[in-house]
Amino acid sequence: MTPMPDQLRNAPRCQARNRAGKSCGCPAVRGKRVCKSHGGLSTGAPKGPANGNWKHGRHSNEAIALRRAASALLKELVDA
Ligand SMILES: [Zn+2]
Repeated sequence: MTPMPDQLRNAPRCQARNRAGKSCGCPAVRGKRVCKSHGGLSTGAPKGPANGNWKHGRHSNEAIALRRAASALLKELVDA
């Protein structure tokens, strides 16, 4: 068997746990915490209403940013 290249050997390890409770130990995908078999290649759940857990959007990033902007504008007006 050919030895593992240094770059792969020194890569951060997958943080996922197997059914025995041990670490997966495979090299993690670059910039991710887990290996390719544990979701490292996934781009994540869909954003917005496409997500099955979406209720009303009151706590969506956009709604929160809008409230923050409105609050900052109001503060600016009150302080001036
Ligand atoms: Zn893994």
